[in-house]
Amino acid sequence: MKPAPFAYTKARTLKEAVVLLSKHKDDARLLAGGQSLIATLNMRLSAPDLLIDINGIKGLDGIAKKGKFVEIGALARHAQVERSEMIAKHAPLIALAMPHIGHPAIRNRGTFGGSIAFADPAAELPACLLALGAAIEIAGPKGKRKVKADAFFKGLFETALRQQEILIAVRVPAADKNTRAGFAELARRHGDYAIVGLAASARADGKGLSDLRLAYFGVGPTPVRAIKAEAALAKGDVDGAVAALDFDPPDDVQATGAVKKHLAGVLLRRVATQLSEARP
Ligand SMILES: Cc1cc2nc3c(=O)[nH]c(=O)nc-3n(C[C@H](O)[C@H](O)[C@H](O)COP(=O)(O)OP(=O)(O)OC[C@H]3O[C@@H](n4cnc5c(N)ncnc54)[C@H](O)[C@@H]3O)c2cc1C
Repeated sequence: MKPAPFAYTKARTLKEAVVLLSKHKDDARLLAGGQSLIATLNMRLSAPDLLIDINGIKGLDGIAKKGKFVEIGALARHAQVERSEMIAKHAPLIALAMPHIGHPAIRNRGTFGGSIAFADPAAELPACLLALGAAIEIAGPKGKRKVKADAFFKGLFETALRQQEILIAVRVPAADKNTRAGFAELARRHGDYAIVGLAASARADGKGLSDLRLAYFGVGPTPVRAIKAEAALAKGDVDGAVAALDFDPPDDVQATGAVKKHLAGVLLRRVATQLSEARP
């Protein structure tokens, strides 16, 4: 199918993009990598009058360590993040997740910020941000604000972003020698959206784990933390953690809710092993 007719403009600055969003309101959409947006236009799930291309805005594609955080710009391509030594060293959970996002062609164009703003419930990065307790930086007509990942993902493809706002960067805590990361997903083919996935972050604490956060994706409209399972796993009780999984995934085109729940337990056992191993 072909999209409904639309106009196109390229914003050169953040301010210009915010002004355009404010002027055109719901009739406009931001265009980043286009890997999700163009598909929704072609399927006529969305028919905006205007696309505002943000790829020409300078300074939004950096990856940098800033004190105790790693900052990833919204326009950093998935491929750029995947190949980044900074990410491998200081954000190991994100490094583990990147190869699972689509295929190389999609990772060459798709952006980190686009994936977070789109908030597909089966996407890897929103769950990683939830597991890491990340902060999301947003620019809008009233300046900049930060939203914690815990409050950002509101519903199916729904986030805390307001209509006139642009996601500009994400901040995750920089890893140190005690940081542990775990990631696993089950997909029909490598690169497909996951049937179920799990992103996990923790700190080694003596023989146990502290600050453990388990974030599942593909089990509901948003990524979800398994808080009761976190408590059991922090004490080293893997069976107890699996028994404590307390979400009920709905059936979808990929699997029934019961299958997803079973797979969530399988993934938890795999990730528990990863978390118990020191970083190389
Ligand atoms: C075949 C295929 C397979 C895929 N598989 C996966 C997968 O396994 N896992 C996965 O996570 N993703 C997958 N994707 C999606 C891919 O990761 C996209 O790149 C991503 O979801 C959206 O990023 P984008 O830069 O392409 O955004 P776009 O498509 O340009 O935009 C998506 C939406 O986000 C909005 N948006 C974009 N950037 C911003 C911003 N900075 N601020 C505010 N709003 C913004 C746009 O207005 C639009 O509504 C797949 C895509 C395809 C086509």
